Amino acid sequence: MRIESRYERLFEPVPIGPVTAKNRFYQVPHCTGMGHALPKTHAAMRGMKAEGGWGVVCTEYCSIHPSSDDQPHPFASLWDDDDVRNLASMAEQVHEHGALAGVELWHGGSFVANLASRMPTLGVRSMLGRTDPIQSQRMDRSDIRAFRRWHLAAAKRARQAGFDVIYVYPTHGYLVSEFLSRTLNDRSDQYGGSLENRSRLMRELIEETRDAVGDRCAVAVRFSADGHGDEHLSGDEAHDVIGMLAQLPDLWDVVVSDYYGEEMATSRFVAEGSLESKVAYVKALTGKPVVSVGRFTSPDLMLRQVRSGILDFVGAARPSIADPFLPTKIREDRLEDIRECIGCNICYAHNYRAAALRCTQNPTMGEEWRSGWHPEKVPPGDGSSVLVVGAGPAGLEAAHILGKRGFQVALADAAHETGGRVTLESRLPGLAEWARVRDYRLGQIRRMPNVAIYLGSALSADDVREFAADHVLVATGARWRRDGVGRSHGQPIRELQAVSVLTPDDIMRGARPVGRVTLFDDDHYYMGPVLSLLLAQAGATVTYVTPAGTAGDWSHYTGEQECTQRQMLGAGVEIVVSTIVAGFDGVAVSLACAYSGRVERRAADTLVLVTSREPDDGLYRELVGEDDDTDGAIRRIGDCRQPAPIANAVYAGHKAARELGSPPPPLPARDRAVV
Ligand code: ADP
Ligand code: SF4
Repeated sequence: MRIESRYERLFEPVPIGPVTAKNRFYQVPHCTGMGHALPKTHAAMRGMKAEGGWGVVCTEYCSIHPSSDDQPHPFASLWDDDDVRNLASMAEQVHEHGALAGVELWHGGSFVANLASRMPTLGVRSMLGRTDPIQSQRMDRSDIRAFRRWHLAAAKRARQAGFDVIYVYPTHGYLVSEFLSRTLNDRSDQYGGSLENRSRLMRELIEETRDAVGDRCAVAVRFSADGHGDEHLSGDEAHDVIGMLAQLPDLWDVVVSDYYGEEMATSRFVAEGSLESKVAYVKALTGKPVVSVGRFTSPDLMLRQVRSGILDFVGAARPSIADPFLPTKIREDRLEDIRECIGCNICYAHNYRAAALRCTQNPTMGEEWRSGWHPEKVPPGDGSSVLVVGAGPAGLEAAHILGKRGFQVALADAAHETGGRVTLESRLPGLAEWARVRDYRLGQIRRMPNVAIYLGSALSADDVREFAADHVLVATGARWRRDGVGRSHGQPIRELQAVSVLTPDDIMRGARPVGRVTLFDDDHYYMGPVLSLLLAQAGATVTYVTPAGTAGDWSHYTGEQECTQRQMLGAGVEIVVSTIVAGFDGVAVSLACAYSGRVERRAADTLVLVTSREPDDGLYRELVGEDDDTDGAIRRIGDCRQPAPIANAVYAGHKAARELGSPPPPLPARDRAVV
């Protein structure tokens, strides 16, 4: 049954060349850490997006040939018949729900290292790639001809696999964008020099793909609206390329040049819909449909960009990961049910770490195939009673899923507000969207008559026993350590003037040291940089010390590191790298070089330790007693079991709640390379 929605405009069918998308919701190509390595996992995950209502669902970057091999990152591939079979499974699952399947044909050029295929990498000229001490081979005319043949063959395999939209991908620094670069492209033949020549390869690929598969498949082009930086392709040149080729593809998928700082930036640095000013001009140049992204989760913003003629399709990667059912929820006017992306890039980090992506907001992401988890459906429970102690992300998610399963749930927290760490952290600079983790779950729970919340209830073991629930889940979280134990120190730092040592918990609860503050970041994610910023903004003179080579070093994986360091420097924070805080006597910190051990003293009034966390599992220990043998009736979940990012706590709460009352599930199935 078709439900009338005030967002009806978003649900109009839109033709893309020879095919038609059923609505304007377009899951653009995005990495998954699944690719060729986890084909069943990948196919089921994309199929779930289609079930959730996305009109177009695309693959990630899909290598056309072994000369473009991005190991260890699990890219998709269309090299051979096995790849065709694997991706055909994805296309089928997408088609089952009436969506179009898209594939982003890709050649990495000099960027990749071909660690697995061991083929020479190819470039417009010989140059270094992203990471390895390997230079590409300069492509001669026969290499260009071979590349065009490979692209064509891959396009045909894509059609054979059942794809409806086939991409040409001349952006993000990969092979075809090397040709577009006025700095990298030093050729004197018909592929170098003028803009027309530099864009020749791009044009040829579009034309050849159309000629080969255009009767049945749409040809899309992913292109940066503001070029690739002035030294490569200026904004004006990008404008001219789009102008020259405006009518050639069937769809323009428009991105921007600053990948980490803007397009893929986290909510710490960039707000929803931020690409608008850079991509808005494209529609005036082409009669073809345009899609772009912007971490869109607000239907009003989507509608405005469509109505004002900026976009034909609302593009999304992260919002479709956080909520595969976003289109359905908008269509059914269930906006309060949308699980909004928080813009943390934990998803991206997992791809970067060569693992299947997971999501802070959507714990079922990546579990569709191997665990059979559905983001909207849970098995019914037996109606027995469950006490959940702790209403942080783990406890909230557990109570939410248990409530949905029909258990009688009591959720207790010592605090006078829910959310635990996410509530505290969401008040730090740039982390406001973290609160969505709490708000989504609280919104769901509040409508469940079988879930009661008790705030201001610090429960003792006797209280828990007296409550006499059939099951108990302990989700009491973790505390930042005050003794310096972490990566660098296996034992407490001996010389510590306790009075002037603060932890993130102190600062999140209002402590604001003044004067000279040294912050020791042995954690390497966002907490150290964000607290440095907060304290500097509050007037302290902050020295940030890390044993790593950069500030917030792990956030290389979330794509935030450069923005992080730039922001800290901008706020006047001094960054000291490759250094360990070895002691503090209340007057000065002892700083030890991470390599030589050489120690220097530096005046400091306060030391902030961002090292590691201690599970707050006292209640659990008291409940299970000496022998630790609980027969599963009392379980601990989240940070009180294993301190980790918020995503892990949500996942733990979800898993415990989904599986409560059932025999322990077998180990998840292992995905194999061939379907
Ligand atoms: P997680 O990330 O695992 O969900 P958090 O640290 O965010 O953990 O949340 C833990 C919550 O548990 C906090 O809100 C804290 O107030 C609460 N809590 C800790 N001990 C108790 C207790 N004994 N009784 C009730 N609530 C508790
Ligand atoms: Fe959004 Fe974070 Fe989920 Fe990625 S992991 S989709 S950024 S909530």
